[in-house]
Amino acid sequence: MSFKASILTLFPEAFPGVLDLSVIGRARAQGLWSLETLNIRDFALDKHASVDDTPAGGGAGMVMRADVLAASLDHVDINERPVLYMSPRGRPLTQARVKSFSQGPGLVILCGRFEGVDERFLQAREVEEVSIGDFVLAGGEIAAQALIEACVRLLPDVLGAPDSVAEESFEGGLLEYPHYTRPREFEGHPIPDVLLSGDHAKIRAWRREKALEITRARRPDLLGPEGQAGSNPADKNKD
Ligand code: SAH
Repeated sequence: MSFKASILTLFPEAFPGVLDLSVIGRARAQGLWSLETLNIRDFALDKHASVDDTPAGGGAGMVMRADVLAASLDHVDINERPVLYMSPRGRPLTQARVKSFSQGPGLVILCGRFEGVDERFLQAREVEEVSIGDFVLAGGEIAAQALIEACVRLLPDVLGAPDSVAEESFEGGLLEYPHYTRPREFEGHPIPDVLLSGDHAKIRAWRREKALEITRARRPDLLGPEGQAGSNPADKNKD
């Protein structure tokens, strides 16, 4: 059984979008994952095909209707997959969460538009809100593509070298060490000698030191109170 993403959206033409490119697109062509898009408008219940209405209590913008959303979600064969709503109010996405999603059967994802969706839909269908960061997009489509891309690249056989995943940012609780390639000298800056030494133990140690340095400078929150990777008590709750 391969990973399946089902998307509920008002803009199905946004998909596959970037998910058709490079390794992620090839993986779909090979059947390593599949994509289904449902147009929420097809589930509108009145003759005007309305999917949104003005917010109860007043205020700006429009809200997506609970009855239309429920009708569209009830059309999906959920099959034990998590049902998510991309939302700036959600729990911020982490690599740990992505990994756990990628080990499951797939995802059902609602992309919001306008001011968002009627709260009663989220409660009635036990939908989990997931954020891709503390900023506000105009719609959930880009957020959904970001989440799916992050999951699919972790599926077995999607990336060539499993090592490239094992050493990446957030693996082991650190940001990644810096990379270099040809030319040997760029605008007067050489590649650090150690990387050309052929001494693999030394290279490993240097990379770990650099990863720590970069993490300390940019994301001290990833390190625990002792400044050690993996000593952050918050890691224990990662799923
Ligand atoms: N009024 C809402 C924002 C609506 S933005 C609020 O203040 O919380 C419109 C849609 O874009 C949302 O329904 C959601 O699906 C998507 N979206 C916006 N920002 C997002 C983010 N950071 N992460 C995930 N989805 C986001």
